[in-house]
Amino acid sequence: MVKEIIVGEKKVYLCEVCGLGYANKSRAKECEHFCKKYKACSLEITRYAIYYP
Ligand SMILES: [Zn+2]
Repeated sequence: MVKEIIVGEKKVYLCEVCGLGYANKSRAKECEHFCKKYKACSLEITRYAIYYP
């Protein structure tokens, strides 16, 4: 499940597996699916991350 948090004044969607945050919910979901499936992050996706835990 993608988590929503507020950072500053922006909404950030977090991948529950790796914890990276995205401005876009579908991107966060994409990351989560990938992380769960391959137990690793996809650089193609994580380069869109705007928040790092
Ligand atoms: Zn992820």
